[in-house]
Amino acid sequence: MIKENLEVVENNIRKACDRAGRDYDSVTLICVSKTKPVEMIEEAVECGKREFGENKAQEMKEKYEILPKDLVWHFIGHLQTNKVKYVVGRASLIHSVDTLHLAEAIEAEAEKKDLTVDVLIEVNVAGEKSKFGLTTQETEELVRGVSKLPHIRVKGLMTIAPFVEDAEENRGIFRALKDLSVDIAGKNIDNVSMDILSMGMTNDYEVAIEEGATHVRVGTGIFGERDYSI
Ligand SMILES: *Cc1c(COP(=O)(O)O)cnc(C)c1O
Repeated sequence: MIKENLEVVENNIRKACDRAGRDYDSVTLICVSKTKPVEMIEEAVECGKREFGENKAQEMKEKYEILPKDLVWHFIGHLQTNKVKYVVGRASLIHSVDTLHLAEAIEAEAEKKDLTVDVLIEVNVAGEKSKFGLTTQETEELVRGVSKLPHIRVKGLMTIAPFVEDAEENRGIFRALKDLSVDIAGKNIDNVSMDILSMGMTNDYEVAIEEGATHVRVGTGIFGERDYSI
């Protein structure tokens, strides 16, 4: 099932890239494996996948310890400062920095482990009350604050778009995130690049790619529905 699902998703990514006149290689597919067992991740690895996304620090740590060390982990969930120690040194990219307080905790852990950590700033473009992330107005200020932390590199922006029936409804959100990233890139802030745009999930990754996503985070479309009752 995973193999077939991956073929469908990759084919859709290819078609979206074609429509947008983009290279297929310019989009990284992150297989969001949260709540799913390591056996399913292993199946995706056999299909050639290397990049996985998790939203719980301890769950990512456990899977990281069990699975081959050449996998690339993306931390995509809300991160509490007391869980930073599980993530720094394991995640290649933390997608969800939304306060200076969290960035400072990452900085302290990175300094302790003598690492540099790549992060994205999470923007709540739609302004949904239920979601974490900054307003577009607050984003530049946080980028500037984080840019001063020597063990952190800001690599771009991330957003979680609302759940909608029709993915087209999120096009404006993706476009706004892209515009914001171009805007911030134009300010040439030291230690900051805007190369990564993490946006698009199972329901809307094709539209996100058309609007410039470099990283799409697809869970259900690859691994099937998640069961939170177990
Ligand atoms: C769960 C999750 C995803 C994947 O969602 P699907 O709709 O299953 O593709 C992507 N991004 C984040 C931040 C998530 O928490």
